[in-house]
Amino acid sequence: MPELPEVETIVRDLRPLLVGRRLSSVTRVGSLELRRPWLEDWHGSLVERCILEAHRRGKWILLRLDSGAHLVVHLGMTGRLTVKPAGDPLEPHTHLVFDLDEPGRQLRFSDIRRFGCAVLIRDDAALETFHRDNALGPEPFDLDPAAWRASLKATTRVIKAVLLDQTVVAGVGNIYAVEALFQAQLHPSRRACDVKPKEADRLRESIAHVLTEAIEHRGSTIRNYVGGSGLSGGYQDEFRAYGRTDLPCPRCETPIAMVRVGGRSSHFCPKCQPAPHKARPKRP
Ligand SMILES: [Zn+2]
Repeated sequence: MPELPEVETIVRDLRPLLVGRRLSSVTRVGSLELRRPWLEDWHGSLVERCILEAHRRGKWILLRLDSGAHLVVHLGMTGRLTVKPAGDPLEPHTHLVFDLDEPGRQLRFSDIRRFGCAVLIRDDAALETFHRDNALGPEPFDLDPAAWRASLKATTRVIKAVLLDQTVVAGVGNIYAVEALFQAQLHPSRRACDVKPKEADRLRESIAHVLTEAIEHRGSTIRNYVGGSGLSGGYQDEFRAYGRTDLPCPRCETPIAMVRVGGRSSHFCPKCQPAPHKARPKRP
């Protein structure tokens, strides 16, 4: 599943190919439903519109049009948004094709498992409402330190689950949660409310650090992810904990262990990330 660094990489790849380009036609390919329905009614609002900006919010890709509307794309598990020569055969599972005014170029959206979607949102106010309805939390690079500490203090859930909660911090998925906890030396099963202020600060910095590093490596290539230019990522070679069960911890050489937390695998170093203290049974 593409996480924030992969989505950011795609946006950076697409930006020079899309900004300033006009959409000359839109084609819906096939009839299989995406996670949110694509409406043919939107075609009239898209054709002849110019793309002014390409950016990211959480795991959403946002293309701002000169009409003030936004074409908003989520890649779900297996979505791809790429610019291809119009002559290239359509990939299987292509759902949308946008012809660009640069002759012979197309923006294409494909998605095998169809957990992704593309929607047209009419203006900035509707986009704000959309993010609010999706309960999209703050970006991980500008978390307010006091608000971050408070949001951890406020919940008895385990810290790993909190990191994956898009309402607390947007864009962090399993891989980067595992890596951030390793870097901050926090066990994934610690209760968020037991995390000390200093540890919360360390975790906040680790999240930003891990994500920045991953973006510099163009994200991680797990299964079928490719950036918007079709190149794959390289951060999977930099993982310190994720997927490294039984391999030595890069910090202390203790074999990396794995626990299931909230149904997701969490790799950690048993020495660097000590387990939370269990309450001692009371004496009779
Ligand atoms: Zn270690």
